[in-house]
Amino acid sequence: MAPGASQRLRLLVRDGGARLLFGLGLTRPGRAGADRLTVVTLHRVLPAEALASYPLPQIAVTPEELAWIVAFLRAHFTCDTLAGAHRRWREGERPARPLLALTFDDGQLDNFVHARPVLDAAGVKATFFVPVEAIDQGTPLWHDRLGFGMMRLLAADPPAARRLLGEVGVVPGPDARATAAAAVAGSKRLREEARRALAERVAEAVPGDPRPAWDGMMGWDQLRTLAHGGHEIGSHSVTHALLPGLDAVALEREAAGSRARIRAELGVACESFCYPNGDHDARVVEAVRRAGYRQAVLTAWGPNAAGADPLRLTRCDLQGRTVRDGVGRLSEEVLALRLSPAYARVRG
Ligand SMILES: [Zn+2]
Repeated sequence: MAPGASQRLRLLVRDGGARLLFGLGLTRPGRAGADRLTVVTLHRVLPAEALASYPLPQIAVTPEELAWIVAFLRAHFTCDTLAGAHRRWREGERPARPLLALTFDDGQLDNFVHARPVLDAAGVKATFFVPVEAIDQGTPLWHDRLGFGMMRLLAADPPAARRLLGEVGVVPGPDARATAAAAVAGSKRLREEARRALAERVAEAVPGDPRPAWDGMMGWDQLRTLAHGGHEIGSHSVTHALLPGLDAVALEREAAGSRARIRAELGVACESFCYPNGDHDARVVEAVRRAGYRQAVLTAWGPNAAGADPLRLTRCDLQGRTVRDGVGRLSEEVLALRLSPAYARVRG
């Protein structure tokens, strides 16, 4: 069977399963996740025209998709910040509409421009995980630096792009955006310094800032506005480094240093941590605990069951494709499945 056909069949099976389980009530949050703490992960919120030129569309939703997602969450869950939802859950609160925390990773400017109005209109509070150094300096995170740089290099100097792509085992395809995304994925296997060096070499090969005008990080003023509006600002480390590879001093700086900095800038305690790329080990978790965080989140999928480790909470990431059915329609059944424990058995 052609790959396209097998993918369509897989989606057809998923959609059929999603409709059946929702119809039977098995994925309805009040029943499926009654005693669970669900944490939703989002990254970028980009209007369609920006999304079309973004190298990593798999970590983005449009403002319209976000508004639809938030309306669903509000109807079926009790939404709060991560700190709020986790505290209530730990204290034994089990509302008829289960507790859910909405989290946004990476501190991108689009969160302020496009997510904030949607959240505020719906009266939903969320948690924003920010990498402190990128906020301070307004610099892009390595994956955006590499992704945007590689798209630019593929257009400007294909042989140079091909050489650098070869280093992460990527052969350029016809779609520059997909090739850039493959380069980002491939480079995650490199060690921290090697990965940054690669992003640096791509940046040197294309003069100027390869990012479009709409791209950027939030600043402290914007984060203060969010915090004053009742949203939570959590730490996503200082440099967004993959933490298990760091020595003790660097690890301490990433965990405790980022917490102190956020507190100093915002004047409120920083209680939540998000491991960059979800990467963690026992040593990293211990550093996060020592730094004083009350909860920390992974990228691993799943609603949290009673007894979950507060410093290893799992999440349910959402993108355009995880809220749409096989023919591209926004689907409550597909979203409900994605947030339900049943998803582990009917993955699509
Ligand atoms: Zn991140």
